Amino acid sequence: MVPWRMKMHEVATKAVACPHCGENASVSPPGEGTDVKVRRSVAAFGEYTTVTCSQGHTYWVYFC
Ligand SMILES: [Zn+2]
Repeated sequence: MVPWRMKMHEVATKAVACPHCGENASVSPPGEGTDVKVRRSVAAFGEYTTVTCSQGHTYWVYFC
């Protein structure tokens, strides 16, 4: 009945930091042992997700 436990069914999240202000966020990699890389701009390869921090900065997190 603890809300966060529902996420435990998925792969553990990884912590990332906004490249603009350093604010921490968490993302869910597609698989275990996946490394995450933060980028300020989009690139046409790989799996990625976008993150918007509380200050409105958008950045891309790549999984590799
Ligand atoms: Zn930011």
